[in-house]
Formats: sequence, structure tokens, C-alpha cells
Amino acid sequence: METYYLNNKEQNAEASTRPHEHELHRLGCRYFPSDVQEIGVFNSPESALLAAMIWAAMNRKDWNVDGCAFCCPSVNSDY
Ligand SMILES: [Zn+2]
Repeated sequence: METYYLNNKEQNAEASTRPHEHELHRLGCRYFPSDVQEIGVFNSPESALLAAMIWAAMNRKDWNVDGCAFCCPSVNSDY
């Protein structure tokens, strides 16, 4: 089980395929952002991404959620 976080800052347009993209990270990622929103503790990136999408739908309707290419590659859609 690991704790997952959403970047409060959106990705640069060059680094993402969609506007207003906010990436999901796990603690210890080499690209862990300085400004994050804790999503919770999950047993897989897939579960965490689903929870992050639900959280964003309720709290930040303009956010597009995606997994970090480095710490959550199985749920990253940019590569
Ligand atoms: Zn990451």
C-alpha cells in the first residue's frame, strides 16, 4: 500500500496531451511535485487514478488527471 498525490500545478503544454493535466505521483518519485493534493492510500496505481479522477470531478472540474510517466507508468497516457 502506498500513498498517492496529485500535482496541484498543471503540466506544461509540451509535456502533456491534454489541457489542464495534473499528474498522479507516489511518494518517493524523483519528480515528486512541491505542491500536492493527497488522494489517499491504495494498493495499485489503477485504484489511485480512479480515486483521483473522482476527487477531481468533485473538487476540480477542469482538471484532467493522468499518471506520472516515472512512478505510475501503467496509468500514464502521454507516451
Ligand atoms: Zn511521479
